[in-house]
Amino acid sequence: MKILVQKFGGTSVASQEARIAVKDKVQKAVRSGFAPVVVVSAMGRKGEPYATDTLIKVLKEMNLSVNVRELDMMMCCGEIMAACVMAATLQKFGINAMALTGGQAGIITDSQFGAARIKNINVSNLHHLLESGVIPIVCGFQGMTENNGKFTTLGRGGSDTTAAAIGAALHAECVEIYTDVEGIMTADPRLVKEASILKQISYGEVCQMAHQGAKVIHPRAVEIAMKKNIPLIVKSTFSDAPGTLITNDCAETEEDTSINERRLASGVTHLTDLAQFRVALNPEDIASGRKLFEDLADAGISVGCLNLSESNAMFAVFADDVEHTNKVLNGTDFEYTLTEDCAKVSVVGSAMRGVPGVMANFVAALTGCKISILQTVDSDTTISAIIKQEHLIDAVTALHKAFKL
Ligand code: ADP
Ligand code: MG
Repeated sequence: MKILVQKFGGTSVASQEARIAVKDKVQKAVRSGFAPVVVVSAMGRKGEPYATDTLIKVLKEMNLSVNVRELDMMMCCGEIMAACVMAATLQKFGINAMALTGGQAGIITDSQFGAARIKNINVSNLHHLLESGVIPIVCGFQGMTENNGKFTTLGRGGSDTTAAAIGAALHAECVEIYTDVEGIMTADPRLVKEASILKQISYGEVCQMAHQGAKVIHPRAVEIAMKKNIPLIVKSTFSDAPGTLITNDCAETEEDTSINERRLASGVTHLTDLAQFRVALNPEDIASGRKLFEDLADAGISVGCLNLSESNAMFAVFADDVEHTNKVLNGTDFEYTLTEDCAKVSVVGSAMRGVPGVMANFVAALTGCKISILQTVDSDTTISAIIKQEHLIDAVTALHKAFKL
């Protein structure tokens, strides 16, 4: 049996018209000889009646500090509704389908509500359905604790993780991620009109893009697929475009590189709602940096974009953590400045590794638009800068152009 996992995001299940398009994709897979497993997200985006954010709002209007167990159970309702509606749609067209919660699909997680990790997938139920010719419609983003069957969620964007994990557990031929764009693009098309679709990209690069803010796929899903070397395809529910194929790093044959042409970078990404802290350190006391980061860690604050020198430490936190970070720093002797309303822009590309002039190009693109760089941070495949959020669109557009994307 050739198994194909097909995951459909919020916009793909939001309307009747969209669900018919989903039905067509499922039917096409069956006609091509696959046994599909369908994974669905909650219907619609923020603001729509059954979207995850709406469900959270309903609970939080009642009790701001609602219990995490109830919050997870509430959030699971969105995918349960989507799976039932999708199963009903397929059944209406004579297709044998059955809606399953994450737990019914065998997804066992730890009990870290809101950010649960999949421990294992008991595939017997899924196997049984597939062997009987039934198409399982699995609720994405959710699992079940092992001992007491509590509903858990895998973190926002977690339906991608569900799809990849099921694909890995069932040794699927491929995992298809259907969404409202025609693949992974060189930048978020909402910011850069000129962004183009990447035909092929490595797990490593797409994972880096996802970590740096490309919300089109969850990094955890990419990591799971990479481990089992299962191809991922990101494509649109609403067209027949081939989408983006994600496979392993060594796939860089000459043929592959000619597909995307030889370019240094694969994409420009961004993260918003950040704040930057600059803390003065005492150059006479080499332990002062250590003390600073220990204090932050003890307070459970996750810091990014770390930059440490003898006299100075810089780092960024999400806007939600600013108050807490201020409190921690105010309780110490460190002097510091805070810059709010920041964003992080990044250029990702494994071909940049070791190439001279990449940083010069990056800096020239931003300063050429009179954008001040508050700080940079880099790895061998990514260069990022913290900038003021008001410059975000200009910065992403300039980098996209400078790196010939
Ligand atoms: P779904 O609900 O289908 O999971 P998401 O909203 O999670 O959809 O992801 C799709 C969206 O991701 C697109 O509409 C697009 O605006 C955004 N996006 C951000 N960065 C990129 C990128 N590099 N390539 C494609 N889409 C991107
Ligand atoms: Mg998504």
